Amino acid sequence: MVNESADQLIVAIDGPAGAGKSTVGRAVAEQLHLEYLDTGAMYRSVTFAALRRGLDPSDQEAVGALSEQIEIEVDRERVLVDGVDATIEIRGREVTSAVSAVAANSRVRAELVRRQRAWVAEHGGGVVEGRDIASVVFPDATLKLYVTASARVRAERRVAEIGGDVDEVETSIIGRDRQDSTRVDSPLIEASGAVAVDTSDLSIDEVVAQVMELIPS
Ligand code: C5P
Repeated sequence: MVNESADQLIVAIDGPAGAGKSTVGRAVAEQLHLEYLDTGAMYRSVTFAALRRGLDPSDQEAVGALSEQIEIEVDRERVLVDGVDATIEIRGREVTSAVSAVAANSRVRAELVRRQRAWVAEHGGGVVEGRDIASVVFPDATLKLYVTASARVRAERRVAEIGGDVDEVETSIIGRDRQDSTRVDSPLIEASGAVAVDTSDLSIDEVVAQVMELIPS
């Protein structure tokens, strides 16, 4: 395993859908003057590209090969897939319901993990958020966090952000958590050495303050 993390500040954040990882991650990155990488956007980008080409998201070979060919650019504001702005579409229902199948594909995972490590090496560290960041991608990260919240709270937050029916969103979140936690390759788990943060009853500012206290000086 590549271990480039020893001399870089890397904050690895994992957790289930809608737990507040992105909001917390972005705020922590800003305070630490680090770049922030949303790896979920990368899995969503591969899914977007597969659907656009009419591929079956669970076609291991075709989607695996596709992941190695496409260009994905994820920055603070937008996501470009082969130069096409996919910022809005990768968050849509179609991509969201197909992304866990794509994320279970080992060839896709190997390719995206390679790109994530290259991104961190290039940026000299960073705050990286996903499902397997502390367990697989950067097991030697400076700080490993497992950010969670109850399924109900997560659904309510999603609805407040993008609308929809709370019960429906909760069912979809629970389904995606189940798929992500039970897959064979790199399932969502609380990595050894990770600090668990339950955000159900905390404000973003409270969570960020807690996390900042955990950063070694
Ligand atoms: O974080 P977000 O909800 O956008 O992630 C979308 C999906 O991408 C997750 O449900 C999961 O299937 C996949 N994912 C993953 N590993 C990561 C990040 C996301 O499998 N590191």
